[in-house]
Amino acid sequence: MSVCLTEIEEYTTDDSIFSPYENSHPKTVSAFRSMQNGSYWFERLLSLEHSWKLKISHQKKVVISYSKPPETSKKSPYFDIVYGGGGLATIHAAAMAKLHNLKTLVFDRFTVGITHRDWNISQVEFDELIHIGLLTEEQANKVVVRKYKSGFVEFFSENSEFKGDRIWMEGVLDVAISANDLLHTCKDILIEHGGEFSHSTTFSHVWVHDGQATIEIIKDGVVSYLRCAVFVDCMGSYSPVAQQLNPKGAFTHCCPTVGTISSGFVQGTNKDEVDPTIGEILLTLDDAQVDGRQFIWEGFPSKDDEFVTYLFFYDEIDSETDKSLVNLFEVFFEKLPSYKKLGENFDYGRPAFGMIPSILHPSLVNSRTVATDSILCLGDSAALSSPLTYCGFGSFVRNFDRTTTLLAFSIKNKLTSVEYLSEINVYEPNVSILGNFAKFLVGKKKFEQNTVNSMMNMIVSILQELPKSVAKSLFTDTLKWEDYNKLMSSVPVKYPNSYKYLFKHHGFIGLFHWAKNFVGFTAYHFLTKNRNTQSKTQILQHYTGSKAFSALVSYFHSRKSTSISV
Ligand SMILES: Cc1cc2nc3c(=O)[nH]c(=O)nc-3n(C[C@H](O)[C@H](O)[C@H](O)COP(=O)(O)OP(=O)(O)OC[C@H]3O[C@@H](n4cnc5c(N)ncnc54)[C@H](O)[C@@H]3O)c2cc1C
Repeated sequence: MSVCLTEIEEYTTDDSIFSPYENSHPKTVSAFRSMQNGSYWFERLLSLEHSWKLKISHQKKVVISYSKPPETSKKSPYFDIVYGGGGLATIHAAAMAKLHNLKTLVFDRFTVGITHRDWNISQVEFDELIHIGLLTEEQANKVVVRKYKSGFVEFFSENSEFKGDRIWMEGVLDVAISANDLLHTCKDILIEHGGEFSHSTTFSHVWVHDGQATIEIIKDGVVSYLRCAVFVDCMGSYSPVAQQLNPKGAFTHCCPTVGTISSGFVQGTNKDEVDPTIGEILLTLDDAQVDGRQFIWEGFPSKDDEFVTYLFFYDEIDSETDKSLVNLFEVFFEKLPSYKKLGENFDYGRPAFGMIPSILHPSLVNSRTVATDSILCLGDSAALSSPLTYCGFGSFVRNFDRTTTLLAFSIKNKLTSVEYLSEINVYEPNVSILGNFAKFLVGKKKFEQNTVNSMMNMIVSILQELPKSVAKSLFTDTLKWEDYNKLMSSVPVKYPNSYKYLFKHHGFIGLFHWAKNFVGFTAYHFLTKNRNTQSKTQILQHYTGSKAFSALVSYFHSRKSTSISV
């Protein structure tokens, strides 16, 4: 279990939290009850469920005011950065304190540095946290709980129109991280460098005025305030801040995900056994349900004989499909033994769950609002990670240099208005265009039940004929423009009838948006090739490298002609 047990124990909830679900969700209640701190995790699950219900009820709360804050907040503590939400924010805050010497505070309505998920990532991506100077090699090695030799993607093909085999990949999501160990390490770094944190602290409101943010928080029923240069909103998919900044919808697609980090599965090399050297990246075991949901499994070995299993489905945010995580857990516990055999000493361990958000941009460039004056959204609240792989942790780490360096620079130079903060985001054109591929994974009630598997088998069969690097880049969010074109041009050659599927999943409007995404991606590709052109797109390219700092200076100079102190 995670190193943070004592802290969870303090927050353990009463067993009565299960009572209303005992009859409707017997498998879920029984599994959670058997877990250490099961009631704590169940409370966090219900909290997300509640946020989902609020979202679909379209109750919009005004939480940002562009006016003077209450008089009583005047003498409240001042920080350079305050983070709302204690998941990925804990890693960011540690870097801002350690590498940039900024005064930071992180608060969470539950526990800062404890999350309900575990992460896999590609080794080369994870190493970024060492290169940037946040983690020592020793610290990084301690949180890596498993490295596996290869991974695969496979779609059920029994009823499929097209046939594709299991596709093997090396160096793809090949490292399992104990998320809570990593967050715990970062919390220690934060404290060591003068940072602060506050558990059981709920965000209530933020006033933006005169170059600073004043945040109203509630802890133990008591209202108080925090003041800062920048409020970083890391409150996840249902962040009320992100919802106000994006009134038409904070995300367009989602991936409801549930699972466990369990031990005691039967080990072996058969399909329904766990091979601790292999990562199962994407896998379907059957066709879609009658309600349209195409269930997908992911499984990867973790610490000792633990095996992380996730069950999820791709969906549109406005569809009528049941997106309740509690209901999905009931399906998960019923179907788990059909995925992997449970051994005699099987232990559910602990749960993992969440509603991962994504955006299909109907535009050439980023269409998502991620900032306003003195406020910046990061992590799932910004919803800019890959709509295909949903690797929010990977995207956060890949762009870590860019977001930490630029934010520190902005704060130190008092460049915290919306136009500057908007530039600090993880948008990548080669990743965002993959939202169009992700649409093929969305099952619908009106589709035949084999639709998603047929389409994915078609794509897999093409990937199998292309150089291995194409599939690898697709699943590591590093797809190059040339590889994208290779893949796209192979489809009509091998499957002349594939256009029918394009129309089925996308329709005319969807294809028009896809074309716009492609123009944006192409422009980005060519502009970034010519490094003499001082353009926004080129700067984006610089951001992903170590030149972030100088890129921001030149970008701001070219746009604003502002005199900036360095
Ligand atoms: C089951 C699962 C498995 C995943 N696996 C991977 C993976 O293997 N690799 C990968 O790259 N990505 C993975 N992801 C995606 C990745 O986990 C997320 O992108 C990432 O965790 C998002 O972190 P976050 O801190 O932005 O949001 P969250 O983790 O949602 O954290 C938000 C925090 O804000 C707090 N909060 C919310 N509202 C308030 C409020 N009003 N006041 C105070 N606090 C508040 C919450 O308590 C929570 O702690 C997975 C996601 C899920 C759900």
